Amino acid sequence: MSAETLEFQAETKRLLDLVINSIYTNKEIFLRELISNASDAIDKLHFESLTNHDILEGNEDFEIFIVPDSDTKTITISDNGIGMTRDEVIANIGTIAQSGTRAFLDKMSDAGDSNNEELIGQFGVGFYSAFIVAQKVELTTRKAGGENSAVKWTCEGAGEYVIEDVDKPSRGTTIILHLKPEFVSGDEFNFTDHFTIESLVKKYSDYIRYPIKMNFYTEDKDKNHIVEVRTVNSMQPLWTRNKSDISEDEYEEFFRHQFHEWEKPMEIFHTKAEGTIEYTALLCIPKRAASNLFFADYEPGLQLYSRHVFVMDKCKDFLPDYFRFVKGLVDSPDLPLNVSREILQQSRDVKKIGRALEKNILKQLAKALKNDREHYEEFWAQFGKSLKIGVYNNTYDSKVKEDLQDLLLFVTSKDLKLSTLAEYVERMPATQKKIYCATGKDAASIAKLPQLEILRERGIEVIYLVDPVDEFALNALVSYNGKEIQSVNREDFELEDEDSQKTKSEIDELSRSYEELLLDVKAAIGESVNEVRLTARLKSGAVCLMTGINGPSLNMEQTFAPMNNPFFKAHRILGLNPNHPLFKKLSGVHAQDKNSDKFKDFCKLLYAQALLIEGIMPDNPVDLANKIAELMSN
Ligand code: ADP
Repeated sequence: MSAETLEFQAETKRLLDLVINSIYTNKEIFLRELISNASDAIDKLHFESLTNHDILEGNEDFEIFIVPDSDTKTITISDNGIGMTRDEVIANIGTIAQSGTRAFLDKMSDAGDSNNEELIGQFGVGFYSAFIVAQKVELTTRKAGGENSAVKWTCEGAGEYVIEDVDKPSRGTTIILHLKPEFVSGDEFNFTDHFTIESLVKKYSDYIRYPIKMNFYTEDKDKNHIVEVRTVNSMQPLWTRNKSDISEDEYEEFFRHQFHEWEKPMEIFHTKAEGTIEYTALLCIPKRAASNLFFADYEPGLQLYSRHVFVMDKCKDFLPDYFRFVKGLVDSPDLPLNVSREILQQSRDVKKIGRALEKNILKQLAKALKNDREHYEEFWAQFGKSLKIGVYNNTYDSKVKEDLQDLLLFVTSKDLKLSTLAEYVERMPATQKKIYCATGKDAASIAKLPQLEILRERGIEVIYLVDPVDEFALNALVSYNGKEIQSVNREDFELEDEDSQKTKSEIDELSRSYEELLLDVKAAIGESVNEVRLTARLKSGAVCLMTGINGPSLNMEQTFAPMNNPFFKAHRILGLNPNHPLFKKLSGVHAQDKNSDKFKDFCKLLYAQALLIEGIMPDNPVDLANKIAELMSN
């Protein structure tokens, strides 16, 4: 195929413009990004070769070669990795797929133009970082595995690039950067200088596990020029070094390179185990939750290495799903190199390692909660949801619930701050037997729930379930340290003190005498309510909604409402306060004529009030508004 000129995708164009025009404070990172791509390409080839040895074409010496050249004012980075086909070049280099880059672009748009400089330094932009220093980039690549055709991609930074077929005898990718003048002989930088490049490789890419080679020119004693090829990086993977010898910057750099974590991780776990099973793990809790953490396109999992050789990415079998946000790798000589995902799933060694890692993370989190509350609350804000979903998803696994229950935080009525269940229980007066919780859309609306009045009066603290998953988690727990968890929104909520018990027996008696009225109220409202009862839980409020002991709560029902699942309906019980003047009025209207429109309207208005208190829109708001207007004008 002859040379073809293609346009960049709009997003790519934007990114390129940003990279070219912004004052990128850290110019040298282009090298790290390109070396990192080269290393990934060799990883991919190596992985393929485990099942298809022919792909190596007899050359198993993996390497990255860097040639700075002051004559041509270029720097060339070559690898003998997997390479790319023409289509792959167009797909990979012409478009933006990588999540880090996307996040970068999103942030860029959020920040407007003012913050570019700072932001651009936080993110790596992968291949495009070449344009920080180059005015023209040529990429020549040949796919490994006997493909003959190679392609050359050339771009001078404008909105388009040229792609053409060329000859390239060896597999892999060669990238030539034609440097902008200020990076050749500028005061600050000279990226054609061998020693500059050598020190940059050592600084950013020392642990890359393939040799990064360079030619060094010296003279022997007779002044003959000799070329010496040297490997510049130590190739020792960071995780194999001693913890005490690794600086924070090195760890940070590592997660940036390896896992596209552009911000300093919140927590780093570096563990080595020797014994029945030997492994090293280097994990981190990122600073921020990925925006797609709970969506299907998020792929959790750790990288797996065996004897420092990359085996597999996104291995899900080490950590439970509630630690899906943890990133990192496990390197174990006990795990075979060419292992399939299926075998891995069955592997007892993987389970053992996973359990140990999980315990370690749990322990560190518990420690942070105890000793550094502020830090833990930052963690909670990012990843709390994941632990709560973990409790819910393991409703029938008491071990998991036990592991997680003390790490949960909830807002409570005490001071609207976050509290653990243990702290709540600790504050409970001796007479209080249960843990009380209430659900609503936010703390302010929960505080106004009429059911809460009698609790407030008795000085009983209530857990506010404001995140939809809060309720799912507490429901799954059922109880905490022998204390039953009781929702004040459920029908079985009652207080245990003497006064409350007395009121309750009075209510029971009243209910019997008003049996007919209650049935008529239910009939007047219709199917949308399942039962109508008198309740002892109200003080100054006239009505409230309660839900059945079993089945979803109103909150759960509302959460799932968009899915239109007819089985996910709460059992709605309208509670009436027999001590409220409205109740006397209601029974008066009923006594006059239980078939009158007035009685029916009265019942519907009561139900509408109960719905509004719960933050639920009545089915027919216009009717409701009209009835209120009618009532007010009478
Ligand atoms: P990232 O490497 O983070 O995915 P880049 O923009 O750096 O993002 O690269 C985009 C894609 O181009 C890579 O995912 C890879 O598929 C391909 N690529 C880049 N460099 C090379 C290379 N040296 N060899 C083979 N493929 C490469």
